Amino acid sequence: MSIEFDDDFSERVVTTSQTAEDSGEPSLRPKTMAEYIGQAKAKENLSVFIEAARRRGEPLDHVLLYGPPGLGKTTLAGIIANEMGVNIRVTSGPAIEKAGDLAALLTNLSENDILFIDEIHRLDRSVEEILYPAMEDYALDIIIGKGPSARSIRLDLPKFTLIGATTRAGQMTSPLRDRFGVMLRLELYSPEELQQIVARSAEILQVEAEPAGTYEIARRSRGTPRIANRMLRRVRDFAEVRFNGVITQQAADTALRALEVDELGLDAIDRRMLRSIMTTFGGGPVGLDTLAATIGEEAVTLEDVYEPYLMQIGFLNRTPRGRCVTALAYEHLDIRPNEPQIPEQFRFDGIE
Ligand code: ADP
Repeated sequence: MSIEFDDDFSERVVTTSQTAEDSGEPSLRPKTMAEYIGQAKAKENLSVFIEAARRRGEPLDHVLLYGPPGLGKTTLAGIIANEMGVNIRVTSGPAIEKAGDLAALLTNLSENDILFIDEIHRLDRSVEEILYPAMEDYALDIIIGKGPSARSIRLDLPKFTLIGATTRAGQMTSPLRDRFGVMLRLELYSPEELQQIVARSAEILQVEAEPAGTYEIARRSRGTPRIANRMLRRVRDFAEVRFNGVITQQAADTALRALEVDELGLDAIDRRMLRSIMTTFGGGPVGLDTLAATIGEEAVTLEDVYEPYLMQIGFLNRTPRGRCVTALAYEHLDIRPNEPQIPEQFRFDGIE
């Protein structure tokens, strides 16, 4: 039996998916391009496209935003709508079950509106086919009747912009991907950018924060604004109860240690994953599915949520033969390569 905590993924402080606790997020969501910190390249390109579309009085070309969860794709879609001065309808791939659901959404749009589909790679194929003529010709093909007497009629749709968001652009079909005029990849944020985000959020939440405190949260939030904001809330609780309400470096450190987030932002599951590659698979290479099965997580979760950050900090490499850990990772976990190890299942996986 392995000793585990934080096993429920949705309960982890470093989870990048939205949790019930994030319901207060809209108040922290930037509303304008100027408030949106970082992602300079994406912002610069978008600003040009928005300005050009506005001058021509046309809808913006369809935009695909991709990158790991929690980096600001939904936020950016809202900002685009705001800057274009149009309405936005928000939905997600799994929420659109039938072709008719999408047809209803599309026919209810007004001229130049934005339809935002999160997790667009999870659209059902039959639903996706409705999107092709909609995106290309602003038209909806409807089949009336059944059997030999069935005929297809074409309905005109208002000109609209589709903004799709995905964590896995590679999983989208190429006909869908090819219909986006603009594809923007969002990158993990630097600690300095995250510090600005945390400082801005602290101001909105009306909690006093010292720069060393906001930096401590920033450098431990895995390059992800959603995690930074969530950590800020938890640190605020500690600050209020134990540190006179001020987020100091010490307050942040105490809170994050209590939450088992180490100084690089790794939590118990990250450490378990790295340790498993080191001890069970001799440092790698190990296939993703084998690794996932060994530590009891889903392969897609490892790939979308854990790996981007571990690769960014140089702890993990993806090779054609599988995942390998690096010397840096050995150093961080204080394990010597090729040293006999206590098998994974007998370890207590907290911060040592
Ligand atoms: P995604 O759609 O990529 O999963 P979201 O757009 O929901 O991510 O962003 C998560 C949260 O992170 C938002 O509520 C917002 O408060 C914050 N956030 C994201 N990007 C930024 C940014 N560039 N500047 C400030 N805050 C941001």
